[in-house]
Amino acid sequence: MSKPEPVLKETIAVGGMTCAVCAASIEKVLEILRKANPNPQTELKFASPWQLLVAAVLSAQSTDVQVNKVTSALFARYPGPAEMAALTEEQLASEIKTLGLYRHKSRYLLATAQLIMERFNGKVPSTREELQSLPGVGRKTANVILAAAFSVPALAVDTHVFRVAGRLGLAKAHTPEEAERQLTRVIPRHLWTSAHHWLVLHGRYVCLARRPRCGICLLCSFCCYYSEENRKD
Ligand code: SF4
Repeated sequence: MSKPEPVLKETIAVGGMTCAVCAASIEKVLEILRKANPNPQTELKFASPWQLLVAAVLSAQSTDVQVNKVTSALFARYPGPAEMAALTEEQLASEIKTLGLYRHKSRYLLATAQLIMERFNGKVPSTREELQSLPGVGRKTANVILAAAFSVPALAVDTHVFRVAGRLGLAKAHTPEEAERQLTRVIPRHLWTSAHHWLVLHGRYVCLARRPRCGICLLCSFCCYYSEENRKD
């Protein structure tokens, strides 16, 4: 087994200045999150790379709970790309109509199912380049699939990761891509996938977008947002 990479002690530029608190806290933040949840997993339900791809595409602007509800019926009837590729766009749209953007999603998924059947022999490809060549699969979704379906270390930056990493001072970025670059510079590769899940779950249940639950948060002592808010009082 290869030796785990050390956590980098690199400092992080915050608004053009160096934030020593953030730089010192990365290791502690990751350790606290690891202790609270040693084996973090996605909350999306799937039984194959194809089903994960479908669930990940459907999760745009929808919660995992909503997606799981839709996919449990969808996958029972259409478990693989061959079954989905045989549907019409209208049939697929009606299967997923309780989710936001369902018309776009049905168009993308149908085109993706057909491409996977034609170009990839019915199998979801396992490289970033091939994944991102599929309709509806951007960098974030490709990262989710690489990590959860193919065990390739990847740090997908969704809205939760972006917000929580920003508040904690782990990444001060204007775009998810920039945040991913900053996070993967300071988090060791073997922790990328877990760090994604930890930050997603923390954002979903504790560091909520509108009203972060700082009172129950284990990370207050290491949080830029918390320290700024309390400095104002
Ligand atoms: S202290 Fe508050 S803002 Fe900071 S990570 Fe925790 S919940 Fe989020």
